[in-house]
Amino acid sequence: MNKHDSERLTGLLLARGFALSSPENAEILIFNTCSVRRSAEEKFVGVLTYWRKKRANEKVLIGVGGCTAQKEGEKLIEMLPGIDFVFGPNDLSRVPELINNCLQGQRPQISIEGKSGVELFSLPRHREEKFKAWLSISSGCDNFCAYCIVPYVRGREKSRSIEEIVTEAYQLVKDGVVEITLLGQNVNSYGKDLYGQPRFGEILQAVERVPGLKRLRFTTSHPRDFSFDLIDIVKNSSVICPHFHLPLQSGSDRVLKLMNRGYTQKDYLELTQKIREEIPEASITTDIIVGFPGEKEEDFKETLKVVETVQFDQAFTFLYSPREGTKAAEMEDPIPQEEKKEWFLELVSLTKKTALERNKLLIGKVLPVLIDGESKKGQISGRTATNKVVNIVDDNFLEGCRGKIFEVKITAAFPYHLKGKIVFD
Ligand code: SF4
Repeated sequence: MNKHDSERLTGLLLARGFALSSPENAEILIFNTCSVRRSAEEKFVGVLTYWRKKRANEKVLIGVGGCTAQKEGEKLIEMLPGIDFVFGPNDLSRVPELINNCLQGQRPQISIEGKSGVELFSLPRHREEKFKAWLSISSGCDNFCAYCIVPYVRGREKSRSIEEIVTEAYQLVKDGVVEITLLGQNVNSYGKDLYGQPRFGEILQAVERVPGLKRLRFTTSHPRDFSFDLIDIVKNSSVICPHFHLPLQSGSDRVLKLMNRGYTQKDYLELTQKIREEIPEASITTDIIVGFPGEKEEDFKETLKVVETVQFDQAFTFLYSPREGTKAAEMEDPIPQEEKKEWFLELVSLTKKTALERNKLLIGKVLPVLIDGESKKGQISGRTATNKVVNIVDDNFLEGCRGKIFEVKITAAFPYHLKGKIVFD
């Protein structure tokens, strides 16, 4: 979501005559922040401090946007002197005006009043890749999970109309995009605010019919709102990727209730079992929080049990960090941090093991891989439809292969990636 906002902001500024530059040479430095975890905020402070010092003797405007900016507003300038303008995620369209005001000497500028992100959908955008694109179907969230700051900073859920989404999908494919990812904080509740009931299945089917589109992804799903007919829609499609990202957060019913997630361990296991039965080749990935306030060892064991049962293809694991203003931040939290860290390491090692087991099942298979980048070792790399990274072991560098799909024979498996060889015939 945050990356897509950066694409919009860049697109808007380019359309207004600004140009992209390196941080060493730019006259304006803009930081797009994330406040979902404390570590993201700490990283932002570190990076900002670095650039502020490095360019201290030059005339550089500094702007800070995103969720941290929305949350802190004016306080951010008091905490981190040197910032010239601050804007929230729903105020992107005002950035050119804020910059102009600053250039005319009116500093600081603060804009955090934007109530909904809907008007942002029509902003021009500058995509990093020409062959793949994010497509927002909604903004904001109505769920108020106890640990999460998103509904407070991005506002309530607002869906875009089906017509607008499909029109944009046609335009993207016309521009050369082969892979679209539908984006929403909770894609499964898409349309509730606009049509009185969720219509995510319809969106998937309408976009998959766009001629020329090769891959359609979606993120993020909410297990509570995920309807079983979506499994059939994915199963019967050659375009919708069989990858389900279903944030578990905890395997304990007691903790799930405290988190206000709206499902139980049994619900989650039924859903994932159904996916495994109907689409055995599908990948299931997840997010898990360790050390939520009040979580006990027996709760943590329930999480381990779910991980063992589902055998996730990948799990993003996080140590809980309190976000000021959320319900969870006010809850009692007697478990020592050291103990939480031990649980965390245990969970990481288990999820790594299950990911490797799942990946090993692919050795010897030939899978279509969309080439989209390079590995750290300089090998070309891409992704399977199930969103697994494949590094290609090939002596012949494939000129102009980015954005193309190749058949790749998987030769080796690791917890976080696969290795393979292109099959030419
Ligand atoms: S569904 Fe929950 S975790 Fe996800 S954005 Fe909404 S409130 Fe946050």
